[in-house]
Amino acid sequence: MQILSKEQLRRNLDEVIWNIERARISVSEHHIVKLVGVAKYTAPENIRTLYELGQRAFGENQVQQLKERMQLLEDLPLEWHMIGTLQKNKINNLIDLQPSLMQSLDSIDLAAELNKKLQAKSKTMHCLLQINSAQEESKSGVSPEQAIDIYQQIKERCAHIVLKGVMSIGAHSDDYAIIQKSFETTYRIFDNLKKEGATVCSMGMSGDYELAIRCGSNLVRIGSTLFKS
Ligand SMILES: *Cc1c(COP(=O)(O)O)cnc(C)c1O
Repeated sequence: MQILSKEQLRRNLDEVIWNIERARISVSEHHIVKLVGVAKYTAPENIRTLYELGQRAFGENQVQQLKERMQLLEDLPLEWHMIGTLQKNKINNLIDLQPSLMQSLDSIDLAAELNKKLQAKSKTMHCLLQINSAQEESKSGVSPEQAIDIYQQIKERCAHIVLKGVMSIGAHSDDYAIIQKSFETTYRIFDNLKKEGATVCSMGMSGDYELAIRCGSNLVRIGSTLFKS
């Protein structure tokens, strides 16, 4: 993995922050958007440099890699997010890492299993319910039709899971309108869940974060654009 210069990372970060800024202001001056740097493709040295440039929140999509990087960078006050599919045999490992947000809770089964193991360790975890808004077979997440019901069920039955909102990956398409539709679907569900206390709507990656923000996202997960050379 390539180590990037501070100047390059500064350019990348400035570009992303500026684009986020433009998109969020077009929604409302009060619409605040959080940036999570997705580090899965990059060398840990680059995370350290981005930290020096002011970035605090980072995401990983594998428990093992999350663990290695948290350990390697434990001298920095970073905020870590789990954003990938969680295998049931990795649940205990993830709990021990105490991530600040687990964004990829993608079924009621996983929620029940996670809750059981959290209970056994007397821990809680902040989570987002992942929604498969574009209904793509290659993606995990609950269907948009069932999302509200499942959210409520998890809230009622899983006392150790603290649901903070929803996460979704935009439709895999070159057609802007189709991607927009998938974000609008997620946002509608989020809007509906505000009365259940949902505050986080995580959507938008390198290719589509400005559109996601215009559709109401308040957390973007950005990897390749942030770490390009
Ligand atoms: C890899 C990944 C991202 C970041 O993707 P980029 O297109 O590189 O910005 C965001 N969210 C999830 C869930 C990912 O796995």
